[in-house]
Amino acid sequence: MRARIQPEQFETWFRRAALLSADGGEVVLAVQNSFAASWLQSYYHEVLEQAVRTTLGHRADVRIEVDPELTFDLAPAPSAPDVAALQDGVDCVAPAQGPRDTTSTEGLRQGGGTGLLWNSDVVLNPKYTFDNFVVGPCNRLAHAASMGAGEAPGKAYNPFFLHGSVGLGKTHLLQSTCFSVLERWPETRILYLSCETFVNHFINALQDGDLAEFRNKYRNVDVLVVDDIHMLANKERTQEEFFHTFNTLYNAGKQIVLSSDSPPRDIPTLQERLVSRFKMGMVAEIELPCYETRTAIVKRKSRERGVPLSDEIAGMIAERIETNVRELEGAVTRLIGFATLTCQEITPDLARDALRDLFVVQRGQPTMDDIVRLVTEQFDVRVVDLQSKSRAASIVLPRQIAMYLARKVTRQSLGEIGGFFGGRDHSTVIYAVEKIGKLIESDHAVADIVEEHLSRLTGNRR
Ligand code: ADP
Ligand code: MG
Repeated sequence: MRARIQPEQFETWFRRAALLSADGGEVVLAVQNSFAASWLQSYYHEVLEQAVRTTLGHRADVRIEVDPELTFDLAPAPSAPDVAALQDGVDCVAPAQGPRDTTSTEGLRQGGGTGLLWNSDVVLNPKYTFDNFVVGPCNRLAHAASMGAGEAPGKAYNPFFLHGSVGLGKTHLLQSTCFSVLERWPETRILYLSCETFVNHFINALQDGDLAEFRNKYRNVDVLVVDDIHMLANKERTQEEFFHTFNTLYNAGKQIVLSSDSPPRDIPTLQERLVSRFKMGMVAEIELPCYETRTAIVKRKSRERGVPLSDEIAGMIAERIETNVRELEGAVTRLIGFATLTCQEITPDLARDALRDLFVVQRGQPTMDDIVRLVTEQFDVRVVDLQSKSRAASIVLPRQIAMYLARKVTRQSLGEIGGFFGGRDHSTVIYAVEKIGKLIESDHAVADIVEEHLSRLTGNRR
């Protein structure tokens, strides 16, 4: 399988699969959960059967079983956090160990023998490093401040409060900061956790009556990182506790790093004294990435997956996903997955096919490209025809329909629309819009086509 699929895919789906048996006409694989089983079944079945045929020299059925107990020695895996090895919070404070090779972070990234205080539900993702973070105008400050906090914990950027909407890289930067600290000072006791975990631990401690132990755990660290601190909203009692934790650490010169989906002031019901403390150090926002940054991210993510996308394809994706880097990344994964599984080269057409939902049902505004694509498909004309000077009826009607649609569903001006269709001026567009408006009244066929295109472009119908 390794020879047949992308390394990334192999890591994700096959590193944690085991060969149970290969007798006679059947090969049995085991994976840890039913999700993985159904994924392999849906997407890798054919490739698996081919691999089996090549390896065994004859055809055999491939069966996939689920075995939750399956264990592996994943030590050399670069990106496979071994969840089983993680224990609950304070129990796994690794004692500071002897001299270490501080030039390498590899050991840290495997999660073994470091000063990182593992928290039960969070594991650092080895891909979330500064090296892998694409910097643009939207996140330059956030990136620089994260680096600053990582280089001098407890100093200039304390507390460091990072905010921005979902999927823009907050967690990525938080974890990069942790790696950067550990790279320099491997013994640093970092407690990294989601706000939810803090809340849950606190509630449990209250119930079990061991607040002392709870406090001991949270207040004896060098760096406290709490992701999604906005979850403190409406939790007065936990806010109170967090306030004391914060003060203890801050007064002891320990670094505090927080992320949130909104600035301190906008977190509902957050106590004033916490708001003012959160603003005391460095507050940085990650804003929506611009087109250029989105394109650069798509290119970076595709390179990371071993299949670099061209500028054209990266631009096509970046144009359509504007508000969430995670979705941008998802599109890259889907496209590469699709191309690999179907053994096709990645062309603009393949991208449209693989990412059909992005191209037909628009999330935001439909683009001129969307319109042109629908119209050229419908009337079997070419873009150059629409943009040409041709007055042939077979070209004029589609061209006018395209202008009409552009007027209805985009925010382009009359001049821009005219310009797009072969440098025509705005009066031509007005004429086209009026003409199609009248045709819709009198000609059912035109009315149906326009109606259909409008609903596809605006996503009313799939
Ligand atoms: P948040 O915590 O803000 O919701 P994440 O940190 O989880 O967002 O980011 C979502 C995904 O997008 C991650 O896989 C992350 O690596 C990626 N990402 C976000 N911003 C960037 C960037 N500037 N460069 C590279 N990857 C990014
Ligand atoms: Mg996050």
